[in-house]
Amino acid sequence: MYLYNSLSRKKEKFVPNHPDVVKMYTCGPTVYHYAHIGNLRTYIMEDVLEKALRYEGYNVKRVMNITDVGHLASDADTGEDKMVKGAKRENKTVMDIARYYTEAFQADCQKLNIKWPDIVEPATNCIDEYIHMVQTLLEQGKAYFVGGNVYFDTSTLEKYYVFNDHDEEDLATGVREGVEEDTNKRNKNDFVLWFTKSKFEDQALKWDSPWGVGYPGWHIECSCISMKHLGEDLDIHCGGIDNAFPHHTNEIAQSEAYLGHKWCNYWFHVRHLNSDSGKMSKSKGEFLTVSLLEKNGYDPMAYRLFCLQSHYRRNLVFSWENLDNAAAAYEKLIAKIATLKNEGEIEPMMFARLKQRFAKALEGDLNTSVAVTAVYDVLKAKTTDATKLALIADFDKVLCLNLLSAAENLRKKQAEEEAANADPEIDALVAERTAAKKAKNFAEADRIRDLLKERGIEIIDTPQGAKWRKV
Ligand code: AMP
Ligand code: ZN
Repeated sequence: MYLYNSLSRKKEKFVPNHPDVVKMYTCGPTVYHYAHIGNLRTYIMEDVLEKALRYEGYNVKRVMNITDVGHLASDADTGEDKMVKGAKRENKTVMDIARYYTEAFQADCQKLNIKWPDIVEPATNCIDEYIHMVQTLLEQGKAYFVGGNVYFDTSTLEKYYVFNDHDEEDLATGVREGVEEDTNKRNKNDFVLWFTKSKFEDQALKWDSPWGVGYPGWHIECSCISMKHLGEDLDIHCGGIDNAFPHHTNEIAQSEAYLGHKWCNYWFHVRHLNSDSGKMSKSKGEFLTVSLLEKNGYDPMAYRLFCLQSHYRRNLVFSWENLDNAAAAYEKLIAKIATLKNEGEIEPMMFARLKQRFAKALEGDLNTSVAVTAVYDVLKAKTTDATKLALIADFDKVLCLNLLSAAENLRKKQAEEEAANADPEIDALVAERTAAKKAKNFAEADRIRDLLKERGIEIIDTPQGAKWRKV
């Protein structure tokens, strides 16, 4: 499998550190509000990555954090804690907010067929691990304690900007427009590992530490949670592209300083879902959720298909029209699959050839749009329905679009509709018309058709024979 690695800025052959397991880490949600469909694009594509690796035969162990403390309104260590902001907004405690939105996130994942990672760890569960890492970095001389906070000292690194060639001035934390400079920092890129003092005093969750009562910085969560469950090396670390800087940059800085060796080999970043006015974000106020899509009559699978139809390394523009197109494509696809009958034998050669097309698409940096096209190739292929159904079941282990169950539901619905509309008298008239047509008695056939028309019945001639419906 080839994957684009943000670290080398190249597509690289994926080779895990250990033959028996792929260690995968995903930055989880900050649970101060509902996830918007932009966040969920990232989780869908990470889900597809995990499933594609499993499809390729790897055993994957995936860990995700739930950020319930320490993520400030600005990624650059300033502003209010997002969780405190959420609690104030809803007049609830931080823990109530965390519980409520974690459950809401889990429900969204379920609706979108996003597998819940093997281990999901709330950040507030790992305070001892953060204290241990911060203490070690202080002992190593890679962190310092000033003004009540512990900072990571980026001047101890050979290279800080690992992901991009941006001008340092553009990225400099603390000197960005609208962000107040923290005068405690020795270097502009230094970041907080542990807070005991900040300009807001109403931080809800605080813990004892060697540096006073306080709380962890956001970046340290992911380093420690990953090491707690996956050990000192990691194969793939995932997140949305906005996480690359400063979050992932800081994760690498502190993890590799702490470990004294390389930490993670592959960095997988998903580009953003944008609306007409730019990046979809919660801080902008209005944002779209899965529930809102459902309220507007969309099947969550239409959104999953919408995401799969584009490559994860391209920005994706959301519009209702684009979603309508995906919803129509999904409906059509399911209707086609619903016409397949479980007939014939599976043809091994055809099965292997069509499967290879699908696997190749995934192996080429997770080309999901080509993988979706492989389903249409199956439907068009000259092979038995049994082969087609087996292939669709196989592909859907990765696509997870409910292709077979939705088709089955559609068939049931159609059968129920037919049963509800059953009328032996009309069936008899339709049969009489068919017989008249066969006997070339077209006048009689037309007479019956007109008679039925007067009663609000339309005859539809199909390759399977004449059917009728009420109009
Ligand atoms: P958050 O809950 O804000 O920590 O974000 C959760 C995940 O969603 C992170 O991996 C972000 O990088 C990602 N993300 C945030 N906004 C977008 C967006 N508009 N499109 C895609 N991913 C996003
Ligand atoms: Zn993270």
